[in-house]
Amino acid sequence: EKGQIRVQTENIFPIIKKFLYSEHDIFLRELISNAVDASQKIKTLSSIGEAKGELGDLRIDVSLDKENKTLTIADHGVGMTAEEVDKYLNQVAFSGAEEFLNKYKDASIIGHFGLGFYSAFMVSDKVDVYTKSFKDEPSTFWSCDGSPSYEIGETEKQERGTKIVLHINSDSEEFLDADKIRGILEKFCKFLPIPIFFEDKQINNTAPLWVKKPSELTDEDYKNFYKELYPFGEPPLFWIHLNVDYPFNLTGILYFPKIKQSYEIQKDKIQLYSNQVFVTDEVKDIVPEFLMLLHGVIDSPDIPLNVSRSYLQGDPNVRKINAHITKKVSDKLEEIFKNDRKSFEEKWESIGLFVKYGMMTEDKFLDKANKYFLMQDAQEEKQFYTLEEYKTAVEALQKNKEGKYVILYTTDLVQQDAYLKACAEKGYKAVRFETIVDAAFVNNMEMKWSDVQFTRVDADIVDNLIDKNESTESVLSKDEAESLKSLFGLQIPNLNVTVEVKGLSPETAPVLATRPEFMRRMKDMGAVSGG
Ligand code: ADP
Ligand code: MG
Repeated sequence: EKGQIRVQTENIFPIIKKFLYSEHDIFLRELISNAVDASQKIKTLSSIGEAKGELGDLRIDVSLDKENKTLTIADHGVGMTAEEVDKYLNQVAFSGAEEFLNKYKDASIIGHFGLGFYSAFMVSDKVDVYTKSFKDEPSTFWSCDGSPSYEIGETEKQERGTKIVLHINSDSEEFLDADKIRGILEKFCKFLPIPIFFEDKQINNTAPLWVKKPSELTDEDYKNFYKELYPFGEPPLFWIHLNVDYPFNLTGILYFPKIKQSYEIQKDKIQLYSNQVFVTDEVKDIVPEFLMLLHGVIDSPDIPLNVSRSYLQGDPNVRKINAHITKKVSDKLEEIFKNDRKSFEEKWESIGLFVKYGMMTEDKFLDKANKYFLMQDAQEEKQFYTLEEYKTAVEALQKNKEGKYVILYTTDLVQQDAYLKACAEKGYKAVRFETIVDAAFVNNMEMKWSDVQFTRVDADIVDNLIDKNESTESVLSKDEAESLKSLFGLQIPNLNVTVEVKGLSPETAPVLATRPEFMRRMKDMGAVSGG
């Protein structure tokens, strides 16, 4: 029997081919997803007694025949009756070419939505389907050459399930290469729940760690899974197992990587899955930006995959998932901080980057992080303060005339050594803000923490670092001071610095050249030159 595929306006296939040009790989994901769906359906039907007889081995086989230029995907799932083939394969999901174009013209989404069975035509001249339903009906053969006409009839197939044979077209011969096929399978199918074989080797781990119960897993299991995901990575610091089924479905494992230098930060290390099918490793808008530095896997069938990114941001499920992940991460940090502060401090170098970035960008996170955010003492490297602890420690000496706490900080222990010593002599406590996020962090927190003022240790001579309206005595006479000042002024002309000699003890630094905190920050931001 012959027939015409029912596409309303015009032939959809050239459009599919053209618009999915850059994402040809996904045809395999689509066909394998269908095979997995069919296998899971037969499992369910068998368990509730609707499908009689042996379930059998549900493996899915992918095979290449280079000589005949075919790629075959075979499953032992529910199969289709002739009526179902007509219903499902002869009806194109899109009502017309124009609608298709309007819906999918945003190129960034391509590859993220399921074009389904028809994606086979991106790489094939002809697609043959052999299928036998679990229902007691004759097997069906269907063949289509990419034009809207098809052939349908009976065939000899004995085993339950569906076999799809793609006659690879001459533009797509790369898909006759075993390495290419293996690569695609490893990318998209690595964690699918039904065993997938290619060249007699199983490609996938059908029970990845994130679908298991956290209570049944050991630290070793988590570390090994991290290795499976990132074979060359250093072991992670710690991890969070996500497991929610209401009001949205979300599972996954997020790992905190070890980071020593901020340039080691790698984004796009989180993989997004939908029911164990790999979707993308671009999780922007799904995961809060500061958490994109984490590694791992999230799996949610509730994240819409066939819509544009701007829509995604407004999607209620995505917003809830985003908030949930933020909360889980914050809870985990608080838990480690409370239960094992020592280990938290040891990891602060890595953790601090996420935490500071999060405090600057997510107000909800800021409220919680204020409890466990740490500052490292500039002189005693083992000494860490929370914000509250620092305030208590400096209560007596480091409040300015407005009553604000003055956080004295250094950006460079070596260069600012003399200033730090002078501070220590005064009994002041300085902390370290040395990383690339710190300059922005200091500016940002000064706006958010209303009772705090930040001052860099070299911002002024030590007596003036904390503006208390107290006068100080110089160790030099007025004349000595003046001549020293002009001497230094000659050595460093055109710089926005103040040379001060008063109030310093000769052992530490008899003279200090300083720049007002305001001028320095303006310079750091590129607002003024010189100095
Ligand atoms: P979707 O998977 O989103 O339903 P597809 O275009 O991928 O859309 O597939 C259309 C339909 O064809 C499926 O819903 C299913 O009923 C049927 N089908 C496709 N492949 C198979 C298969 N391997 N076994 C059984 N049925 C299949
Ligand atoms: Mg499908």
